[in-house]
Amino acid sequence: MENTFRDPFRSPGRWYRGNLHMHTTASDGLRSPEEAAAWYRAQGYDFVAVTDHRACTPVEGLSSPEFLVLPGIEAHPGQNEVGEPYHVVAAGVTSARRYTRDDPPQAAIDELRAAGGLVWLGHPHWLGSTLGELMALEGYAGIEVYNSTCLRFAKGYSTVHWDDLLARGRLVWGLAVDDTHWAGGDPGRGWVMVKAPELAPQAILSALAAGSFYASQGPEIYDVQVGPEEVYVRCSPVASITCVSVSGSGRYALAEGPDRPLTEATISRRTARVYVRIECTDAAGRTAWSQPYLL
Ligand SMILES: [Zn+2]
Ligand SMILES: [Zn+2]
Repeated sequence: MENTFRDPFRSPGRWYRGNLHMHTTASDGLRSPEEAAAWYRAQGYDFVAVTDHRACTPVEGLSSPEFLVLPGIEAHPGQNEVGEPYHVVAAGVTSARRYTRDDPPQAAIDELRAAGGLVWLGHPHWLGSTLGELMALEGYAGIEVYNSTCLRFAKGYSTVHWDDLLARGRLVWGLAVDDTHWAGGDPGRGWVMVKAPELAPQAILSALAAGSFYASQGPEIYDVQVGPEEVYVRCSPVASITCVSVSGSGRYALAEGPDRPLTEATISRRTARVYVRIECTDAAGRTAWSQPYLL
């Protein structure tokens, strides 16, 4: 299965900000689903997915026309090479069986997708996932390239895993999530900006499935145009704009100083191969990640 890309910067609709991974008192989080939803709404988010461990938490009555609460789950099937179960996360599912170490992770992916879920792999770096393990699984929409709860354990970033998949032609999307359990000051540190025609479950989930979003810790991306020779990027003020590609074939643009941030850049892609993706990083070190563009 290969994902088909809907470029958010070339698609109609509006931007919706959401967090796709977090926990409540229904598993090991410290806030109830009601309190958690209220927090995201007060912070200016448009939607959140409740992804408690091992079971789908009921979310009936938590949505309103202005704020969407998606049901979901973080399932823990199988076991990787370093003895951790996989963390298979899904949004848009209202029920699922309880997965254990005896269940192959591929079964969880297939069944959660069949139940209508958008399925992705949580925090590969924290899990010690190998490239072989990620390549062996199919049907997932993406991986968490940033997870702020995992950053508390010094393993928040999985962009290396992402680039290794992309370099081998595996077109998967990069997500940023906070995965908060409401204990360590990590809520609101990573999210997705989704371009969708409306704030409704199916519109948001199909936009995410099609890659019509970018991931962020703060910076906003306004435009990405991939031409035959150059990539043009427009964004909120940042310290660097990086065009990432296979091996050493990427390039970047740097701001001339803290008082002269970049808000756009045109970067040569002549050496790029297979794909390019954009990272915009501000002076505080916060990054926004575009989805990959196949060349
Ligand atoms: Zn997890
Ligand atoms: Zn989690």
